[in-house]
Amino acid sequence: MIIVFLGPPGSGKGTYSKRTAELTSLPHISTGDIFREAIHNNTALGKQVQEYLSRGELVPNEITIEILRERISHPDCAKGFILDGYPRTLPQAEALDNLVHVDLVVNLVAHEEVLIAKLSARRICGQCGEIYNLADVHKMIDGLKYDMPSMPPQKDSICDKCGGELVHRKDDQVDVITHRLQISNRQTKPILYFYRSKGIVEDINVNLGLEKTGPSIMRTIKNHI
Ligand code: AMP
Repeated sequence: MIIVFLGPPGSGKGTYSKRTAELTSLPHISTGDIFREAIHNNTALGKQVQEYLSRGELVPNEITIEILRERISHPDCAKGFILDGYPRTLPQAEALDNLVHVDLVVNLVAHEEVLIAKLSARRICGQCGEIYNLADVHKMIDGLKYDMPSMPPQKDSICDKCGGELVHRKDDQVDVITHRLQISNRQTKPILYFYRSKGIVEDINVNLGLEKTGPSIMRTIKNHI
């Protein structure tokens, strides 16, 4: 089973795709994580991509597609995998389509004002990549209720899972966020169109928080098996 998670930054794409990977025992593949690890380890790839990440810009397709192609050729992907942060462009979606058959696209839908509040309060473990959120967002916008509770660590700035230090990613600062949301909107439209024409997209509203969204994603996946 090959599942693609789509959704703007801050919609919980990382959290939901990782949980889904745990529950389905499929590997979770995040191109963002692969790039960050390469930067952290100062590899040739890391040197190639670090400027793009610090500016919140997309890494060129040639590099990204090659990294993805290599990753999904590993034996752990034989039964399927979950993609988080790929594809970000139509050529990336088309390249994936030439390699494998995507079964399901989970499209996470959220309100922009809520996304900005959540993203600027996001913290990530510098060691294992676990994501936390310090903002408790409960508000009414245009007559709709948005309930996204915080997910803080038990100890301030320390990862519950591995004890690593939590960091505020450079691209989670407000000025870069607005830029990332614009890029994401512009880039996601043609990808969604591409997958909708194949009839494999399921829209999931994430505004009601973790407890309702998680089960709703799992129900959707079960319906597709
Ligand atoms: P993410 O962790 O998915 O938000 O990705 C962080 C950053 O990595 C993005 O802002 C891009 O600079 C880069 N990146 C991750 N995935 C891709 C992709 N599929 N295509 C291009 N750039 C990417």
